[in-house]
Amino acid sequence: MTGGPKGEALTDASRQAEIRPLRAPSNDAGIDLESQYRSIFENAVEGIYQTTIDGQYIRVNPALAQIYGFASPADLIVNLTDIAGQLYVDPTRRDDFKQAMAEAGTVRDFEAQVYRADRSVIWITENARCVRAPDGAILYYEGTVEDITRRKADEENIRLLATVFDSVGEGILIVDGDLVVKAVNPAYEAICGLDAAALVNRPLDLLAKGFHDNSFVPAILHDVETHGHWSGEATCQRRNGEFYLAALSVYVVRGREDDTSQMIVTCTDITFRKEQEHRIWHHANFDLLTELPNRWLMTERLQQHMLRAARKRTGLAVLFLDLNGFKQINDSLGHQAGDELLRLVARRLKACTRLSDAVGRLGGDEFLIVAPDATDAHGGAHLAEKILYTFADPFRLADREIFCVPAIGITYYPEHGSTADDLIRNADVAMYEAKRNRGRPFATFAPQMLEVSARRLEVEHDLHRAFENREFVLYYQPKVDAHTGRVVGAEALVRWYHPKRGIVPPSEFIPLAEECGLITALGEWTLREACEQLTKWQAEGIPIASVSVNLSPRQFVDASLISVVQRILQQTAIDPACLELELTEGAMSVDIEKAIFTLQSLKALGLRLSIDDFGTGYSSLTYLKRLPVDVVKIDQSFVRDLEDHTADSKIIAAIIGLADVLGFDVVAEGVETEKQVEILRLTRCDVFQGYLYSRPVTASQFAAFTQAPANR
Ligand code: C2E
Ligand code: MG
Ligand code: MG
Repeated sequence: MTGGPKGEALTDASRQAEIRPLRAPSNDAGIDLESQYRSIFENAVEGIYQTTIDGQYIRVNPALAQIYGFASPADLIVNLTDIAGQLYVDPTRRDDFKQAMAEAGTVRDFEAQVYRADRSVIWITENARCVRAPDGAILYYEGTVEDITRRKADEENIRLLATVFDSVGEGILIVDGDLVVKAVNPAYEAICGLDAAALVNRPLDLLAKGFHDNSFVPAILHDVETHGHWSGEATCQRRNGEFYLAALSVYVVRGREDDTSQMIVTCTDITFRKEQEHRIWHHANFDLLTELPNRWLMTERLQQHMLRAARKRTGLAVLFLDLNGFKQINDSLGHQAGDELLRLVARRLKACTRLSDAVGRLGGDEFLIVAPDATDAHGGAHLAEKILYTFADPFRLADREIFCVPAIGITYYPEHGSTADDLIRNADVAMYEAKRNRGRPFATFAPQMLEVSARRLEVEHDLHRAFENREFVLYYQPKVDAHTGRVVGAEALVRWYHPKRGIVPPSEFIPLAEECGLITALGEWTLREACEQLTKWQAEGIPIASVSVNLSPRQFVDASLISVVQRILQQTAIDPACLELELTEGAMSVDIEKAIFTLQSLKALGLRLSIDDFGTGYSSLTYLKRLPVDVVKIDQSFVRDLEDHTADSKIIAAIIGLADVLGFDVVAEGVETEKQVEILRLTRCDVFQGYLYSRPVTASQFAAFTQAPANR
C-alpha cells in the first residue's frame, strides 16, 4: 500500500548510520558545519522529524517534542512508537500520508488532527519527503510539522462569520474609508434588488434622493467618527424605484496596523414593521367600527386639551352622548343594522362639529365630543342643540327610515372636574339626567346629580334582588264609563315594595329595568299576574270587562313577545278579548313597518291594543291610519290643563275627532276634577281614568271599589 519497503525496527547502530549526513566537514569559515545544522535542528520553531516508513521516530527535534507535548525528543521517541495508531486522530491519515509519499515522494501541507501526549487534540500541517537509497528504495521519511490549531480555529470562526454574513436577514454592506462598497451580503442584494456585482467597488448609494436634508449624511459620518457608530432610520430606494423605510446602523472598524478604517453598514427593511406598528397603534386607539378615536385616545386628547386650556386660562366643554332606543333598534333590526347606524351617527357627529373638536366613541352607543372652543355655558348647549338639530332627520337603514336621537350630558372644564376621568364621568351623569328630560334631551352637569346617579346604581342592584324576593306588586286603576260611571276595566300598574324605601313608583325603576335587561322577565310576570287576577275576579263574580297591561318599548321589540303572550293566554285560559296591551307611540316609531307587523300578530291572538300617552309622540297620520289598534289614551298632560287652556280642549276635541275617523275608542287619562269631567263630557270621550275615581289600588281594594253601590 505504502509502496515503501517494510521497514524493520532499526538498530541504534543503523540509526546512527542514517543520520550521518548531518555530520559534515567544517566549512571555510572554520565553523563546524555539523554544529550549524544541529543548531538549526535544535532551535527550529517547526518540528522536524525522521521516521521509519512503518511509523517509528528515528530522530526528532525539541520543537516537535514540544508540539506533541513530550518532555524531550527522547521522551517522544520512547513513548510515541506507533504513528498510525497513537498519533493521528483518524488512523487512516497515516495511510493517506504514505500513499502520497509513494506516489509523489513528497507531501505538501498535509493537514491532520493529532493527539498530544496528554490526549488533547491539535491541528498540524506537515511537509515531508522520502529519503531514498541509491537504488531508489525508500529509507525513511523526513519532514517538518507546524501546529496550526490556532489558524484552524480562526478559519472556522471566519467560516462561521461568513455564514452569518450570508444568511442573516439584515442587509450588510462593507464600505471603505472613501465610502466605496467593498462587499454586500445576499440579504442586502434582496432588499435593494441589485446583485453584488453592481454594487461592489462603487460609491455607497443607499438613501433615496430628496428625503433627507443635506446635513443628514455629514451628521452620520460625524457620529461614526466620534462615537464609532450611528443608528437611525432613513428612507431608501430599491432598484425598481420603490421606497422603503430602513433601520440603519453604521459601525467603524479600524485597521489593526494602519489607520485605514472600514465601515459596516447594516440595513433592515422596516416598512412592514412600521405598518404593523401603525396598525397596532390604530387598533389600540381607534374604534374599528366607526374609525373614531376610542375611549383611551379620547381621554388622552381631553387631557391635552385641558393642559392647553389651563395654559391659556380658558375652558372647554365635554359632551357625552348616548343614543336613545339604540338597544331596541339593535334588537329589532339586527346587529348589522345597529352597526350601520353607529357608523352613520359617527359621520353625522363629525359633520356637525368643527375640525378642532374631538369626536370619539366610548363603546356601545356612547359617543364623546371634546369642544375646546365651547368655553362658556352657552357653548356646550349650543353645540348640543346643533347636534340634536341634525339628528331630527331620520337615518336610512336597510330601506327604512329610523329616528334615533341622543341624550347629551355636558360638563365644562375647569368647573366640573380637574381630571379627564371626572369630566367624562360627570358628563355621563348629566346625560342620564338628560334622558329623563322630555323635549330637551340635554343637560349640563350639576353636583347634586351625583347623588341621583349613586342612587340609580343602588336601585339597579336592588332591582335584581327584588325580582328574586318577589317584591313587585300589581296595583289596579279603574277605567270608568264616561256616561254611566261604571267600572269597565282595570289598568295594571306595577309597584315595588322596597324593604327600606317603601313603595317605589314605576317611573323610577322601569327605565332601569329596561337598561339592565330585567324588563323582559318583569314584563312577563306582570302579564301573567294581571291575567291570573282577572280570572280570580271573574271567578268571584266581579264583572270586569278587561284588564290592561303596559308594555315597555323594549318588550315590544323582543322577538319572543308574541309567543310569551300566547302562552300566558293559554295558561290562564282568559278570553283574549279581555286583555288589552298599552303601548306608547315611541315604542312603535322606531321601525314602523316592523311595529305594524307585531301589532297585527298580537291582534291575531284576539286581544285589544291601545296607544298610551297619545299626543306626546310624533306619529304621522299616515302611520296612525295603518296601526291595527282599538283604543287611544289621551295623555294626562292635555287633561290636566283643560280648565285653564282652551287650546287643550280643542286639541282633545281634535284627537277625539281623529280617533272617531280612524275608528278608535278614546280613554282620557289623569282625570282629577269634576270640571275636567264636565268639559270632557262635551266631547265624545268614552272612558275616563284618574284620581277623581280612584288612585291605583291593590287587587282587593279594587274589588271592593267595584262592589261599592256607586259603581254597580
Ligand atoms: P301610564 O301607563 O300612562 O299610567 C298612568 C299613570 O298615571 C300611572 O302612573 C297612574 O298612577 C297615573 N295616574 C292615573 N290617574 C292619575 C291622575 O288622575 N293624576 C295623575 N297625576 N296621575 C294619574 P304610574 O303607576 O306611576 O305609572 C307610570 C308609568 O309607568 C305608566 O304610565 C306606564 O307607562 C309605566 N308602567 C306602570 N306599570 C307598568 C308595567 O307593569 N309595565 C310597564 N312596561 N310599564 C308600566
Ligand atoms: Mg298605561
Ligand atoms: Mg298614560
